[in-house]
Amino acid sequence: MSLAEEGHLLIIGAGLAGYHTARQVRAQGHAGPITILGAEAHPAYDRPALSKAFLCGTTDLCDLYLDDPSDPLDARWVRSDAVTALSTEPLGVQTASGTFYLGDAVVIATGAEARRLSGHAIRSVEDAAALRAAPLAGARVAVIGGGFLALETAATCTTRGAGSVTVIAGEDLPGLRRLGRPVARALHSLHEQHGVRFTGAARALGVTRAPPDPQADQVVTLSDGRGIPADVVISAIGASPATEWLSRSALALDPGTQAVLADDTGFTGIPGVWTAGDCALWSAQRTGLRPVGHWQETVDQAQALAAALLGGSPSPMQEPYLWSDQHHVTIQAAGMLALADEVQVLAGSIEGNDLLVSYLRGGTEIGILGMNRLREVVRWRKSRRIRPAVLAA
Ligand SMILES: Cc1cc2nc3c(=O)[nH]c(=O)nc-3n(C[C@H](O)[C@H](O)[C@H](O)COP(=O)(O)OP(=O)(O)OC[C@H]3O[C@@H](n4cnc5c(N)ncnc54)[C@H](O)[C@@H]3O)c2cc1C
Repeated sequence: MSLAEEGHLLIIGAGLAGYHTARQVRAQGHAGPITILGAEAHPAYDRPALSKAFLCGTTDLCDLYLDDPSDPLDARWVRSDAVTALSTEPLGVQTASGTFYLGDAVVIATGAEARRLSGHAIRSVEDAAALRAAPLAGARVAVIGGGFLALETAATCTTRGAGSVTVIAGEDLPGLRRLGRPVARALHSLHEQHGVRFTGAARALGVTRAPPDPQADQVVTLSDGRGIPADVVISAIGASPATEWLSRSALALDPGTQAVLADDTGFTGIPGVWTAGDCALWSAQRTGLRPVGHWQETVDQAQALAAALLGGSPSPMQEPYLWSDQHHVTIQAAGMLALADEVQVLAGSIEGNDLLVSYLRGGTEIGILGMNRLREVVRWRKSRRIRPAVLAA
């Protein structure tokens, strides 16, 4: 059932998915009231810069606000009031302050929470501000995690003058399992050129505070018995959907991740309840056809959800796309890298921080990754649409 023209839309979560859903719903002609309920005290903000320019100190929170002051979103924002329960009969939500909001449709867009092993994490602006305020200059920094967030954070710590940066990625080369050997070698080389060290396949088991070594504040214990002394420890080991508040609801949650399950328009199967962004797992994400936890995926989902919510047919989503900035190298990937069975270097060199790599499945190209290859990746994205026949192979 689509949202009636004057229907009240309740959006839970004032982040990227919540904001863009509201924007799209308005752009697609909805005239009824929109209420966006957020747990955070700030206006909705964009997160990618938190591990890059914000952590570096070259940008501030007000530069990250999502809403456009010259064309503000026509919606009611409620801040600092986390939603604690969903009601399906009547449709609405309860917040921590005890307020009950009724809606004609509810969009769940509560994002994800950083998994924390120890030390700093980076998910919210408070997390990033705490790390920004830490005395990084000259410090021994240990970064736990081998994904783009970990690598970006490691790169930013070198820019901030850290004495040493050690990345505990848990695999021989960072990104080896997800991106294949050529890219993993190139990432390793890029970071080593800037003094970042890697511990190889050993995994971080835990962090000991005030260890026997008086020279170290903390020691990260590795699975091979080594200990990495550190003044600052950063955990970048992934994020879990922020859905604990839904555990007693009628919604179906993914048993592994606890993400809200939905079809490929964001509909959860419960009348009037939709979901998008990092808290959601759409059908195509469940089968590995689309990535989880990326900016462009969230924005594309918001657009598709808005169309379906208003009774239209969403246009096909573009090829998945993500980017990362590390040591002045922009890494961009498009397509379904996770499904590739072969990786080929098309151009550039592993050591040159300038690489173009093709991802193939059954001999057909299904994805591309470029390091400082803006033009090629843009061209590839423009010429592509999803090709289900390839994916079925
Ligand atoms: C540091 C960092 C760097 C990133 N860099 C990149 C990048 O370079 N490239 C890329 O493609 N992607 C990047 N991403 C990923 C991208 O930012 C996310 O995919 C995107 O923010 C997801 O949007 P979202 O709205 O689902 O979640 P969020 O942005 O997390 O927003 C969810 C909001 O819901 C609120 N909320 C949670 N629970 C409740 C509740 N119970 N009641 C009310 N409100 C609630 C949260 O407080 C939050 O404000 C990065 C993410 C981080 C954290």
